[in-house]
Amino acid sequence: MAPDNASSHTKLPVNRNVKHVVLGDLLFKTWYQSIYPDDLVSKDTDRLYVCRWCFRYSCDVDAYAQHTRACQHRTTPPGTKVYHHGGYAVWEVDGDDHKLYGQNLSLFAKLFLDHKSVFFDVASFLYYLLTFTDPNDPENYYILGFFSKEKLSWDANNLACILIFPPYQHKQLGKLLMGVSYKLSAWEKDGGLIGGPEKPLSEMGQKSYNRFWEERIARYLLLRGSEAADTENSSQQKQKPPKGSKKKHHHEVMTVQQIGLATGMLTEDVITALKGMGVAEPTTPSKKRKANQEAGDGETVMIRKSNVLEWAKAHRVALQDPVRDEGFLGRWAPRDTPEIEESGTDEDDE
Ligand SMILES: [Zn+2]
Repeated sequence: MAPDNASSHTKLPVNRNVKHVVLGDLLFKTWYQSIYPDDLVSKDTDRLYVCRWCFRYSCDVDAYAQHTRACQHRTTPPGTKVYHHGGYAVWEVDGDDHKLYGQNLSLFAKLFLDHKSVFFDVASFLYYLLTFTDPNDPENYYILGFFSKEKLSWDANNLACILIFPPYQHKQLGKLLMGVSYKLSAWEKDGGLIGGPEKPLSEMGQKSYNRFWEERIARYLLLRGSEAADTENSSQQKQKPPKGSKKKHHHEVMTVQQIGLATGMLTEDVITALKGMGVAEPTTPSKKRKANQEAGDGETVMIRKSNVLEWAKAHRVALQDPVRDEGFLGRWAPRDTPEIEESGTDEDDE
C-alpha cells in the first residue's frame, strides 16, 4: 500500500481538485483528491463549502448559506443513536436508507483518505457518525468523524474505513470509534464474530490501530491481573506460599489465542500488539506446550504483569476504557437494561 505519510501531511499531492474546505465555520486544507462531479466542482477549486450536518457541497457561498439555514439534519443526524456518553454519541446510518447522505459523506471523506478507492456502493455499508453535543448548547451538534462497515463482510471486518475530521484529530477520538466498532462486532455474544479492520491499513491507520490494540490488551491484562493479585495478597497474609509458587504471582502464561478471545481481537493483531509493547516473552519449551501447539492451541506467551504496568505507565494509559458499556443503547445496551427487541430480525440482516 502506498504510505500516506499522514502524520505530517507536509507533502500534499499537487493535483488535488479541491484545495480547502469550509465545514461549518471551519476552514482547512484537504489532503487528497476526491471524486466530486466535474460539472459541480471544477478541477481547480480553492474553497468547497460543505454542510457540517449533511455534507452537501457547493462552490458558491450564497447557495451554501441558503442550504444551511434549511438543512433537514441541522438538529439531529439521520439514523439511530447506538451510543451516548459524556456528550459524545455514535449514530448508525444505513447507506441504503440514506444514499445521498452516504455519497456526500464519502466524497468529503475521500479528501482525507488516500488508500481507499472505496465505498461508493453506499447501500451495502453502514456508517457510524461520531457526534459531540455541548451540554450548555444542547440544540447544536457537531459531527467529528465516522467509520464505515460493510453489512456483509466475508472476513468479519468490523470496520472498513475510519476518519476523524482534521480539526478534531489528536484528541483520542479514533480510539473511541475503534472501541465502538469492536463492541458492535458483538464478539462477546452468540452469533457475533471476532474480527478487525479491513486490511491492508494505511500507515496512519496501522499506527493508530497498533496503539489501540496495545491499550486494549494492557487494560485487559491489568484489570484481570489486579483481581487475581487481590485474592492472592489476602491469602498470603494468612499462610506463607509454598516455595516456587512466587513466580506465578509475577507472570502469567497465556496463549495468544486466549488473549484474542478475551478481547475480541484477531490472533495476528494480538501478536502485533504484544510485539509492539515488548511485554511478551516466549515460554521455555515444555512437553505440555509442545502438545498444545500440536493441538493447534496457538502461540504460548508469557507476560509479566509488572512489564505491562510499566508499559501502561510509560504510555500514560488510563485503566478506564474510554468506551463505556453503559453508554450503549437499544439492542447494544447491557443485558440488565430492559429492552424491546424485534425477534429474529437482527440475524437476518447480517
Ligand atoms: Zn445540510
